[in-house]
Amino acid sequence: MTPCSPALLSLLRPLTPSERCLARLISGVTPIPVPRGKPVSPNDEISTPGPYAGRQRQYRRGRTMITETDKQHLQRCVELAEEALEAGDEPFGSVLVSGDGAVLVEDHNHVAGGDATQHPEFFLARWSAENLTPEERARATVYTSGEHCPMCAAAHGWVGLGRIVYASSSEQLEQWLEAMGAAPPPVRPLPIQAIVPEAEVEGPEPALADRIHGLHRRLHGA
Ligand code: ZN
Repeated sequence: MTPCSPALLSLLRPLTPSERCLARLISGVTPIPVPRGKPVSPNDEISTPGPYAGRQRQYRRGRTMITETDKQHLQRCVELAEEALEAGDEPFGSVLVSGDGAVLVEDHNHVAGGDATQHPEFFLARWSAENLTPEERARATVYTSGEHCPMCAAAHGWVGLGRIVYASSSEQLEQWLEAMGAAPPPVRPLPIQAIVPEAEVEGPEPALADRIHGLHRRLHGA
């Protein structure tokens, strides 16, 4: 509790809550909060009531901009997710494609060994930092079966990779886990743009939702 000034305490005996508040303001010992940084408006995408508020517009935009070529790469991501599950890992897969359309590298989850940071999107970010120029990274596209977690989104943003196309969203995964009674992830799922505001993101791809949902049901025995 913040102490009131002795002068006020000597004058005021048992105070009501509102009197105590007023006394603190008068005594000057309670700093008045000063807003810092950009004011949060009710229309901000990550404003209350939850992390997905205001995302419907982006979903609609995303669905219209996923091309047939994008869908082929997303299909490969889901195949990689299936390979991960069959190898005893969690079903997530990702592919990195150059600005010229060449598949550069692909990966799936490797968290079964005990390192929970071994996500494919994180691997692609590090691989691109080691093997691509900043310009090549900016022109590249990351395809992934599930929307980046905050760790992978941050890695993506830090290395300056380009567009992201995902098949299923973090919001969908969260709903699936909840419906199965599975434990939520230890890191709060957030939309990619909550981590990398300028990221160009497309997704989800509704045609793949059932297939990916099925992989997570198999993982959790549901
Ligand atoms: Zn991740």
